Amino acid sequence: MTVVDLRSDTLTAPTSGMRAAMMDAPVGDDVYDEDPTVRALEARVAALLGHEAGLFTATGSLANQLGIALHVAPGSEVLCDARAHIARAELGAHAALHGVTMRTWVTNDGVADASQITNLIEPDAGPFLVSTSCVALENTHNFGGGTIQPLPGLQRVSRICGDLGVARHLDGARLWNAHVATGVPLDVYGRLFDTVSVCLSKGLGAPVGSVLVGSREAIGRARVLRKRLGAGWRQAGILAAAGLYALDHHIGRLADDHAAAEAFAAAVEERAPRSVKDPETNIVLVSAEKMKAAKLVALAADRGVRLSAVGPKLVRAVTHLDVTVEDCARAGAIVGEILAGR
Ligand SMILES: *Cc1c(COP(=O)(O)O)cnc(C)c1O
Repeated sequence: MTVVDLRSDTLTAPTSGMRAAMMDAPVGDDVYDEDPTVRALEARVAALLGHEAGLFTATGSLANQLGIALHVAPGSEVLCDARAHIARAELGAHAALHGVTMRTWVTNDGVADASQITNLIEPDAGPFLVSTSCVALENTHNFGGGTIQPLPGLQRVSRICGDLGVARHLDGARLWNAHVATGVPLDVYGRLFDTVSVCLSKGLGAPVGSVLVGSREAIGRARVLRKRLGAGWRQAGILAAAGLYALDHHIGRLADDHAAAEAFAAAVEERAPRSVKDPETNIVLVSAEKMKAAKLVALAADRGVRLSAVGPKLVRAVTHLDVTVEDCARAGAIVGEILAGR
């Protein structure tokens, strides 16, 4: 039985071309800021996103932690979606490590609503209430189902924050997917925020790494914070080379992942109507109304399809570089049959 693993787009293995690029990478000591491949990656991602400087990090969680710590002093708050990765999936790091508190807004699909943010934001709350230092958005929205934040909404939130002197952070782990799906240039997204994190190890298929971008001054401070956390690294150019290779070869092909998500969703929908929403990018949320999510995950695994439960009745499938459109159509048919009781 060939297994179709749709648990995450982090599961991809580096391609042979990527491995060759890693082998040949010129390297140096990055704590001394002397690794030419790391420097090239940081400069390239910063330029792509319309920012001055970049910092290569081991994970997206680390890039988010650094980005938010730059803006939020201990005891003040970041506002974000209740299902944001920073709120749900970073193990409380922002509070545990940097004294950051959070308040959240609630959405159906992760798409931010500027009026909710206007109601929450309070940059100068006085001596009794917590003051807002930062608003963090996520694009695409992971637990919202790979949803794209429409550009006008992002522009509004950016303007509201800018007018009030509140910092803006974008968790752009899958910003590449939003860019490919909409055609909005990366720097148009990037310039709306003070800092942006992007992942190289999701759809882009690198084995390791994220980049945080911002002003030269901000990234200088982030470099110090990273070292303080013990996350300075040495000849990291071996890993940065995979990121550069991914930028050269794997951005455009994200459209294939989006087509694979469509094929998966269509195959489920054909057999179990109204159990999926039409996907916007590479994530499909399947609602398992008549059985528990864990049960659907287990039954699908028995038939060679790996998924993850993201709620009591909600299952997530993520398409990526290591699965084809045909694999995903077949996987969707299996999931649809299980939901239909066949
Ligand atoms: C995957 C992900 C991250 C970073 O995850 P790491 O596993 O720490 O690299 C950040 N934000 C979102 C929305 C993600 O999906």
